[in-house]
Order: sequence, then structure tokens, then C-alpha cells
Amino acid sequence: MRNMNELSVRPVPCSATPLIFDETKCIGCNACANVCQCDILLPSAEKGAHPIVMYPGECYYCGACVMVCPRPGALRLQHPVMNRAKFIPVKPDPEK
Ligand code: SF4
Ligand code: SF4
Repeated sequence: MRNMNELSVRPVPCSATPLIFDETKCIGCNACANVCQCDILLPSAEKGAHPIVMYPGECYYCGACVMVCPRPGALRLQHPVMNRAKFIPVKPDPEK
């Protein structure tokens, strides 16, 4: 029988995937989870594993988690598709 004091959590589903972890580089220090002002990350119960992205839809892509990470490449941001657009100068029309 399940212990009534046990807690279980699961990420809140969202179409965005704001954080991509590289498990081969992450050391599970949780610095990224501690710095996040939105508290979207939850330290993993597994020692050495990266934090769990509990509320992916709440991320505002400030980049603080990436900047504080001591292992380059262990964590990167993935902006939503609609935010990846670039504005480029319009080429002059040769007809005019
Ligand atoms: S980008 Fe900012 S808001 Fe998003 S998880 Fe990292 S620290 Fe938190
Ligand atoms: S700060 Fe970097 S190394 Fe530490 S848990 Fe987060 S992704 Fe992993």
C-alpha cells in the first residue's frame, strides 16, 4: 500500500521545450534550478541527474540558468518556433 506521506510530481505538459540538457555534460549540481526566478525547475531525486523541468510553459527565456551552469554545453535554451524569426533587410527591387 502506498505511504500517505509520499509525494509524487510530474511536469505540467506544454508545447514548449525551453531547456535542453546534455546528460553527458551535466553533473546535477542544481545551480540552474537554484537561480531560476520562475522556479520552473525541480532538483532530481536521482543524485547527479539534471533537474526536472516542471513548468516549461512558465519559462521566460532569461538565460540565467545557462549563464550560471559550470559545465559549458550541459544546458541550452530552445526558444519557441515563433520567437526564432529574424528580420533581414529587404533587397532592393532591380526593376525600380
Ligand atoms: S531561462 Fe530563465 S526562466 Fe527559463 S528556466 Fe532558465 S532561469 Fe528559469
Ligand atoms: S547548472 Fe548545469 S551542470 Fe548544474 S544541474 Fe544545471 S545543467 Fe547540470
